[in-house]
Amino acid sequence: MTNFSDNFPLGDRNTFGLDATARYWAEFRTTGELRDIILACRERHLPWYVLSGGSNLILTGNFPGVVIHPAAAEITLPEATLVRAEAAVVWDELVAWTVERGLGGLENLSLIPGLAGAAPVQNIGAYGAEAKDTIETVEYFDTETFDTVRIKGADCAFGYRDSIFKGALKGRAIVTAVEFRLVPEDTPGGGGYTYNIGYGDLHDRVEALGGPTLDHIRRAVIAIREAKLPDPAVTGNAGSFFKNPVIPAAQAERLREAYPEMPGYPSADGETVKVPAAWLIDRAGWKGFRCGTVGVHPKQALVLINLGGATAQEILNLARRIIADVERKFGIALSMEVNVL
Ligand SMILES: Cc1cc2nc3c(=O)[nH]c(=O)nc-3n(C[C@H](O)[C@H](O)[C@H](O)COP(=O)(O)OP(=O)(O)OC[C@H]3O[C@@H](n4cnc5c(N)ncnc54)[C@H](O)[C@@H]3O)c2cc1C
Repeated sequence: MTNFSDNFPLGDRNTFGLDATARYWAEFRTTGELRDIILACRERHLPWYVLSGGSNLILTGNFPGVVIHPAAAEITLPEATLVRAEAAVVWDELVAWTVERGLGGLENLSLIPGLAGAAPVQNIGAYGAEAKDTIETVEYFDTETFDTVRIKGADCAFGYRDSIFKGALKGRAIVTAVEFRLVPEDTPGGGGYTYNIGYGDLHDRVEALGGPTLDHIRRAVIAIREAKLPDPAVTGNAGSFFKNPVIPAAQAERLREAYPEMPGYPSADGETVKVPAAWLIDRAGWKGFRCGTVGVHPKQALVLINLGGATAQEILNLARRIIADVERKFGIALSMEVNVL
Protein backbone atom coordinates (compact mmCIF):
# COMPACT_ATOMS: atom_id res chain seq x y z
CA MET A 1 0.00 0.00 0.00
CA THR A 2 1.34 3.44 -0.84
CA ASN A 3 2.49 5.63 2.05
CA PHE A 4 2.05 2.74 4.48
CA SER A 5 5.14 1.54 6.30
CA ASP A 6 4.83 -2.11 7.29
CA ASN A 7 6.01 -3.88 10.45
CA PHE A 8 6.58 -0.51 12.02
CA PRO A 9 8.29 -0.55 15.45
CA LEU A 10 6.36 1.32 18.15
CA GLY A 11 8.92 1.06 20.96
CA ASP A 12 10.02 4.68 20.48
CA ARG A 13 6.46 5.85 19.92
CA ASN A 14 5.12 5.21 23.43
CA THR A 15 6.44 6.78 26.61
CA PHE A 16 6.22 3.51 28.56
CA GLY A 17 8.85 2.19 26.13
CA LEU A 18 6.86 -0.97 25.44
CA ASP A 19 8.00 -3.06 22.50
CA ALA A 20 5.38 -3.73 19.86
CA THR A 21 4.95 -3.32 16.14
CA ALA A 22 2.17 -2.04 13.92
CA ARG A 23 1.35 -4.07 10.83
CA TYR A 24 1.17 -0.71 9.06
CA TRP A 25 2.00 2.88 10.04
CA ALA A 26 0.44 5.76 8.11
CA GLU A 27 0.89 9.49 8.58
CA PHE A 28 -1.53 12.14 7.35
CA ARG A 29 -1.21 15.89 6.80
CA THR A 30 -4.51 16.63 5.11
CA THR A 31 -8.03 15.28 5.43
CA GLY A 32 -7.66 14.02 1.85
CA GLU A 33 -4.75 11.82 2.97
CA LEU A 34 -6.75 10.71 5.99
CA ARG A 35 -9.67 9.75 3.77
CA ASP A 36 -7.38 7.63 1.59
CA ILE A 37 -6.00 5.87 4.67
CA ILE A 38 -9.48 5.07 5.99
CA LEU A 39 -10.61 3.88 2.54
CA ALA A 40 -7.60 1.57 2.35
CA CYS A 41 -8.42 0.21 5.83
CA ARG A 42 -12.00 -0.47 4.72
CA GLU A 43 -10.95 -2.18 1.50
CA ARG A 44 -8.52 -4.46 3.28
CA HIS A 45 -10.68 -4.96 6.40
CA LEU A 46 -7.91 -3.61 8.61
CA PRO A 47 -8.57 -2.09 12.03
CA TRP A 48 -7.01 1.34 12.67
CA TYR A 49 -5.91 3.24 15.75
CA VAL A 50 -4.74 6.83 16.18
CA LEU A 51 -1.44 7.16 18.01
CA SER A 52 -0.18 10.69 18.63
CA GLY A 53 2.55 11.10 21.27
CA GLY A 54 1.85 7.67 22.83
CA SER A 55 2.10 9.22 26.29
CA ASN A 56 -1.13 7.84 27.67
CA LEU A 57 -1.01 4.39 26.21
CA ILE A 58 -0.24 0.78 27.06
CA LEU A 59 0.57 -1.38 24.04
CA THR A 60 -0.39 -4.92 24.95
CA GLY A 61 0.95 -6.50 21.75
CA ASN A 62 1.56 -6.07 18.05
CA PHE A 63 -1.25 -4.15 16.35
CA PRO A 64 -2.70 -6.11 13.42
CA GLY A 65 -3.93 -3.05 11.49
CA VAL A 66 -2.96 0.50 10.63
CA VAL A 67 -1.62 2.89 13.26
CA ILE A 68 -2.53 6.38 12.09
CA HIS A 69 -0.32 9.28 13.12
CA PRO A 70 -1.05 12.98 12.55
CA ALA A 71 1.78 14.97 10.95
CA ALA A 72 0.43 18.49 10.34
CA ALA A 73 1.76 20.81 13.04
CA GLU A 74 0.97 24.43 12.30
CA ILE A 75 -0.09 27.00 14.91
CA THR A 76 -2.10 29.96 13.63
CA LEU A 77 -4.02 32.88 15.09
CA PRO A 78 -7.34 33.18 13.22
CA GLU A 79 -8.36 35.95 15.64
CA ALA A 80 -6.41 38.02 18.18
CA THR A 81 -7.35 35.66 21.03
CA LEU A 82 -8.16 32.47 19.12
CA VAL A 83 -5.28 30.04 18.67
CA ARG A 84 -5.61 27.14 16.23
CA ALA A 85 -3.29 24.16 16.57
CA GLU A 86 -3.15 21.31 14.10
CA ALA A 87 -3.23 17.84 15.63
CA ALA A 88 0.51 17.15 15.52
CA VAL A 89 1.60 20.32 17.32
CA VAL A 90 3.62 19.25 20.35
CA TRP A 91 1.43 20.26 23.29
CA ASP A 92 4.13 21.97 25.31
CA GLU A 93 5.34 23.91 22.27
CA LEU A 94 1.80 25.24 21.92
CA VAL A 95 1.78 26.31 25.58
CA ALA A 96 5.15 28.04 25.15
CA TRP A 97 3.88 29.78 21.99
CA THR A 98 0.84 31.20 23.80
CA VAL A 99 2.81 32.29 26.86
CA GLU A 100 5.38 34.07 24.67
CA ARG A 101 2.55 36.03 23.07
CA GLY A 102 0.98 36.98 26.39
CA LEU A 103 -2.13 34.84 25.88
CA GLY A 104 -3.41 33.26 29.09
CA GLY A 105 -5.27 30.00 29.59
CA LEU A 106 -2.83 27.17 28.85
CA GLU A 107 0.10 28.05 31.13
CA ASN A 108 -0.99 25.70 33.97
CA LEU A 109 -0.87 22.83 31.47
CA SER A 110 2.84 23.33 30.76
CA LEU A 111 5.05 20.30 30.12
CA ILE A 112 2.23 17.77 29.69
CA PRO A 113 3.61 15.33 27.12
CA GLY A 114 1.78 14.53 23.89
CA LEU A 115 0.30 16.29 20.89
CA ALA A 116 -2.44 18.91 20.66
CA GLY A 117 -4.92 16.58 18.92
CA ALA A 118 -5.06 14.35 22.00
CA ALA A 119 -5.75 17.24 24.39
CA PRO A 120 -9.54 17.31 23.80
CA VAL A 121 -9.74 13.50 23.72
CA GLN A 122 -8.30 13.27 27.21
CA ASN A 123 -9.44 16.70 28.38
CA ILE A 124 -5.95 17.01 29.82
CA GLY A 125 -5.64 18.77 33.12
CA ALA A 126 -3.15 19.90 35.74
CA TYR A 127 -2.76 22.46 38.51
CA GLY A 128 -6.43 23.44 38.58
CA ALA A 129 -6.85 23.88 34.80
CA GLU A 130 -8.30 21.63 32.12
CA ALA A 131 -8.19 21.80 28.33
CA LYS A 132 -11.98 22.21 28.32
CA ASP A 133 -11.63 25.63 30.02
CA THR A 134 -10.23 27.12 26.80
CA ILE A 135 -11.27 24.80 23.94
CA GLU A 136 -13.67 26.69 21.70
CA THR A 137 -13.86 24.28 18.76
CA VAL A 138 -12.52 20.87 17.86
CA GLU A 139 -12.16 19.94 14.21
CA TYR A 140 -12.35 16.24 13.40
CA PHE A 141 -12.58 13.90 10.46
CA ASP A 142 -15.62 11.64 10.66
CA THR A 143 -14.49 8.22 9.44
CA GLU A 144 -18.09 7.11 8.80
CA THR A 145 -19.36 10.06 6.74
CA PHE A 146 -15.93 11.32 5.57
CA ASP A 147 -16.97 14.84 6.58
CA THR A 148 -14.78 17.34 8.37
CA VAL A 149 -16.79 18.39 11.39
CA ARG A 150 -16.36 21.41 13.67
CA ILE A 151 -17.78 20.75 17.10
CA LYS A 152 -18.07 23.40 19.83
CA GLY A 153 -16.20 22.74 23.05
CA ALA A 154 -19.52 23.02 24.87
CA ASP A 155 -20.79 20.01 22.88
CA CYS A 156 -17.74 17.79 23.55
CA ALA A 157 -19.19 16.25 26.76
CA PHE A 158 -15.99 17.11 28.58
CA GLY A 159 -15.54 15.51 31.97
CA TYR A 160 -12.64 14.53 34.16
CA ARG A 161 -10.15 13.01 31.64
CA ASP A 162 -13.16 12.33 29.48
CA SER A 163 -14.89 13.62 26.36
CA ILE A 164 -17.21 12.67 23.53
CA PHE A 165 -14.10 11.34 21.73
CA LYS A 166 -13.81 8.61 24.37
CA GLY A 167 -17.60 8.08 24.31
CA ALA A 168 -20.05 8.46 21.42
CA LEU A 169 -17.31 9.34 18.87
CA LYS A 170 -14.75 6.75 20.01
CA GLY A 171 -13.32 4.87 17.04
CA ARG A 172 -15.07 7.27 14.66
CA ALA A 173 -13.59 10.77 15.05
CA ILE A 174 -9.98 11.67 14.28
CA VAL A 175 -9.11 15.10 15.65
CA THR A 176 -7.34 17.23 13.04
CA ALA A 177 -7.18 20.63 14.80
CA VAL A 178 -8.18 22.38 18.01
CA GLU A 179 -9.03 26.04 18.62
CA PHE A 180 -8.45 27.65 22.00
CA ARG A 181 -10.04 30.92 23.17
CA LEU A 182 -7.41 32.62 25.31
CA VAL A 183 -7.28 35.85 27.29
CA PRO A 184 -4.58 38.51 26.84
CA GLU A 185 -2.46 38.88 29.94
CA ASP A 186 -2.71 42.67 29.58
CA THR A 187 -6.28 43.26 28.53
CA PRO A 188 -6.54 46.69 26.87
CA GLY A 189 -8.64 49.03 28.97
CA GLY A 190 -8.00 47.12 32.18
CA GLY A 191 -9.79 44.10 33.50
CA GLY A 192 -6.76 41.94 33.16
CA TYR A 193 -6.34 38.21 33.26
CA THR A 194 -7.13 36.13 36.33
CA TYR A 195 -4.17 33.92 37.11
CA ASN A 196 -4.90 30.47 38.44
CA ILE A 197 -2.32 29.69 41.12
CA GLY A 198 -4.45 28.30 43.93
CA TYR A 199 -3.51 24.69 43.37
CA GLY A 200 -1.01 22.87 45.62
CA ASP A 201 2.33 24.57 46.04
CA LEU A 202 2.01 26.58 42.82
CA HIS A 203 1.22 29.83 44.65
CA ASP A 204 4.43 29.77 46.71
CA ARG A 205 6.57 28.84 43.72
CA VAL A 206 5.10 31.68 41.65
CA GLU A 207 5.58 34.19 44.46
CA ALA A 208 9.19 33.09 44.78
CA LEU A 209 9.68 33.97 41.10
CA GLY A 210 8.32 37.48 41.71
CA GLY A 211 4.54 37.08 41.55
CA PRO A 212 2.06 35.92 38.94
CA THR A 213 2.76 36.34 35.23
CA LEU A 214 2.12 33.76 32.52
CA ASP A 215 5.85 33.18 32.24
CA HIS A 216 6.30 32.71 36.00
CA ILE A 217 3.40 30.26 36.18
CA ARG A 218 4.82 28.28 33.29
CA ARG A 219 8.26 28.21 34.87
CA ALA A 220 6.85 27.22 38.28
CA VAL A 221 4.71 24.43 36.81
CA ILE A 222 7.69 23.08 34.86
CA ALA A 223 9.88 23.15 37.98
CA ILE A 224 7.27 21.32 40.08
CA ARG A 225 6.65 18.72 37.38
CA GLU A 226 10.35 18.11 36.78
CA ALA A 227 10.89 17.56 40.49
CA LYS A 228 7.98 15.16 40.92
CA LEU A 229 7.46 13.25 37.69
CA PRO A 230 9.81 10.83 35.98
CA ASP A 231 11.11 11.90 32.58
CA PRO A 232 9.83 9.30 30.08
CA ALA A 233 13.09 9.65 28.14
CA VAL A 234 14.82 8.15 31.19
CA THR A 235 12.14 6.05 32.92
CA GLY A 236 9.22 4.68 30.94
CA ASN A 237 5.82 5.79 32.25
CA ALA A 238 2.49 7.20 31.12
CA GLY A 239 1.94 9.85 33.78
CA SER A 240 -0.99 9.27 36.11
CA PHE A 241 -1.94 5.64 35.71
CA PHE A 242 -5.18 5.90 37.73
CA LYS A 243 -7.98 8.45 37.89
CA ASN A 244 -8.81 10.20 41.14
CA PRO A 245 -11.94 8.40 42.39
CA VAL A 246 -15.11 10.32 43.16
CA ILE A 247 -16.99 8.80 46.11
CA PRO A 248 -20.26 9.61 47.93
CA ALA A 249 -19.78 12.25 50.66
CA ALA A 250 -21.11 9.82 53.30
CA GLN A 251 -18.41 7.28 52.40
CA ALA A 252 -15.74 10.00 52.61
CA GLU A 253 -17.02 10.94 56.05
CA ARG A 254 -16.84 7.33 57.25
CA LEU A 255 -13.30 6.98 55.88
CA ARG A 256 -12.24 10.21 57.64
CA GLU A 257 -13.12 8.59 60.97
CA ALA A 258 -10.38 6.05 60.33
CA TYR A 259 -8.10 8.40 58.34
CA PRO A 260 -8.65 11.99 59.54
CA GLU A 261 -5.78 13.20 57.34
CA MET A 262 -7.36 11.88 54.12
CA PRO A 263 -7.49 14.73 51.58
CA GLY A 264 -10.67 15.27 49.56
CA TYR A 265 -12.26 17.82 47.26
CA PRO A 266 -16.07 18.07 47.66
CA SER A 267 -18.23 18.64 44.58
CA ALA A 268 -20.17 21.92 44.28
CA ASP A 269 -23.40 20.23 45.41
CA GLY A 270 -21.61 18.56 48.33
CA GLU A 271 -22.87 15.10 47.29
CA THR A 272 -19.52 13.62 46.31
CA VAL A 273 -15.85 13.96 47.19
CA LYS A 274 -12.87 13.50 44.87
CA VAL A 275 -10.10 11.66 46.71
CA PRO A 276 -6.52 11.78 45.38
CA ALA A 277 -5.69 8.28 44.14
CA ALA A 278 -2.04 9.04 44.93
CA TRP A 279 -2.90 9.38 48.63
CA LEU A 280 -4.81 6.07 48.66
CA ILE A 281 -1.98 4.21 46.89
CA ASP A 282 0.65 5.80 49.12
CA ARG A 283 -1.37 5.06 52.29
CA ALA A 284 -1.80 1.45 51.13
CA GLY A 285 2.01 1.22 51.11
CA TRP A 286 2.76 1.05 47.38
CA LYS A 287 4.77 4.25 46.85
CA GLY A 288 8.29 3.31 45.79
CA PHE A 289 7.34 -0.37 45.42
CA ARG A 290 9.50 -2.30 42.94
CA CYS A 291 9.02 -5.79 41.58
CA GLY A 292 11.27 -7.01 38.78
CA THR A 293 10.84 -4.72 35.80
CA VAL A 294 8.00 -2.59 37.15
CA GLY A 295 7.39 -0.26 40.06
CA VAL A 296 5.58 2.70 41.56
CA HIS A 297 7.40 6.02 41.29
CA PRO A 298 8.97 6.91 44.68
CA LYS A 299 7.93 10.58 44.38
CA GLN A 300 4.44 10.18 42.91
CA ALA A 301 2.37 7.10 43.76
CA LEU A 302 0.02 7.62 40.78
CA VAL A 303 2.79 6.87 38.31
CA LEU A 304 3.70 3.28 37.44
CA ILE A 305 7.16 2.93 35.94
CA ASN A 306 9.03 0.63 33.59
CA LEU A 307 12.31 -0.15 35.32
CA GLY A 308 13.66 -1.65 32.10
CA GLY A 309 12.27 -4.24 29.72
CA ALA A 310 8.79 -4.40 31.29
CA THR A 311 5.92 -5.95 29.36
CA ALA A 312 2.39 -4.59 29.27
CA GLN A 313 1.24 -7.67 31.20
CA GLU A 314 3.70 -6.95 34.02
CA ILE A 315 2.50 -3.35 34.25
CA LEU A 316 -1.16 -4.37 34.15
CA ASN A 317 -0.57 -7.08 36.78
CA LEU A 318 0.94 -4.50 39.12
CA ALA A 319 -2.00 -2.18 38.41
CA ARG A 320 -4.46 -4.98 39.28
CA ARG A 321 -2.65 -5.71 42.56
CA ILE A 322 -2.83 -2.04 43.53
CA ILE A 323 -6.51 -1.77 42.56
CA ALA A 324 -7.38 -4.88 44.63
CA ASP A 325 -5.40 -3.69 47.64
CA VAL A 326 -6.87 -0.17 47.63
CA GLU A 327 -10.35 -1.66 47.31
CA ARG A 328 -9.72 -4.02 50.25
CA LYS A 329 -8.32 -1.26 52.47
CA PHE A 330 -10.61 1.66 51.59
CA GLY A 331 -13.59 0.16 49.74
CA ILE A 332 -12.74 2.37 46.74
CA ALA A 333 -12.42 0.94 43.22
CA LEU A 334 -9.69 2.75 41.29
CA SER A 335 -10.04 2.97 37.53
CA MET A 336 -7.25 3.37 34.99
CA GLU A 337 -6.61 6.66 33.21
CA VAL A 338 -4.27 5.09 30.67
CA ASN A 339 -5.61 3.83 27.33
CA VAL A 340 -4.98 0.16 26.57
CA LEU A 341 -4.40 -1.02 23.00
C1 LIG B 1 5.31 12.10 32.44
C2 LIG B 1 3.86 12.27 32.05
C3 LIG B 1 3.08 13.24 32.68
C4 LIG B 1 1.74 13.42 32.33
N1 LIG B 1 1.02 14.39 32.96
C5 LIG B 1 -0.27 14.59 32.63
C6 LIG B 1 -1.03 15.62 33.27
O1 LIG B 1 -0.53 16.37 34.11
N2 LIG B 1 -2.33 15.78 32.91
C7 LIG B 1 -2.91 15.00 31.96
O2 LIG B 1 -4.10 15.20 31.67
N3 LIG B 1 -2.21 14.01 31.34
C8 LIG B 1 -0.91 13.80 31.65
N4 LIG B 1 -0.20 12.79 31.02
C9 LIG B 1 -0.87 11.95 30.02
C10 LIG B 1 -0.68 12.42 28.57
O3 LIG B 1 0.38 13.32 28.46
C11 LIG B 1 -1.94 13.07 28.03
O4 LIG B 1 -3.04 12.20 28.14
C12 LIG B 1 -1.78 13.48 26.55
O5 LIG B 1 -2.90 14.23 26.13
C13 LIG B 1 -1.64 12.30 25.62
O6 LIG B 1 -1.28 12.82 24.35
P1 LIG B 1 -0.62 11.89 23.26
O7 LIG B 1 -0.46 12.73 22.05
O8 LIG B 1 0.58 11.24 23.79
O9 LIG B 1 -1.79 10.84 23.03
P2 LIG B 1 -1.70 9.27 22.80
O10 LIG B 1 -1.15 8.61 24.02
O11 LIG B 1 -1.05 9.00 21.50
O12 LIG B 1 -3.25 8.92 22.68
C14 LIG B 1 -4.09 8.99 23.82
C15 LIG B 1 -5.51 8.60 23.38
O13 LIG B 1 -6.05 9.61 22.55
C16 LIG B 1 -6.35 9.09 21.25
N5 LIG B 1 -5.92 10.11 20.28
C17 LIG B 1 -4.71 10.69 20.22
N6 LIG B 1 -4.68 11.60 19.23
C18 LIG B 1 -5.89 11.59 18.65
C19 LIG B 1 -6.48 12.29 17.55
N7 LIG B 1 -5.81 13.21 16.86
N8 LIG B 1 -7.77 12.01 17.23
C20 LIG B 1 -8.48 11.07 17.92
N9 LIG B 1 -7.97 10.38 18.96
C21 LIG B 1 -6.69 10.63 19.31
C22 LIG B 1 -5.54 7.82 21.11
O14 LIG B 1 -6.15 6.92 20.21
C23 LIG B 1 -5.55 7.31 22.54
O15 LIG B 1 -6.74 6.64 22.83
C24 LIG B 1 1.15 12.60 31.33
C25 LIG B 1 1.94 11.62 30.69
C26 LIG B 1 3.26 11.46 31.05
C27 LIG B 1 4.09 10.43 30.33
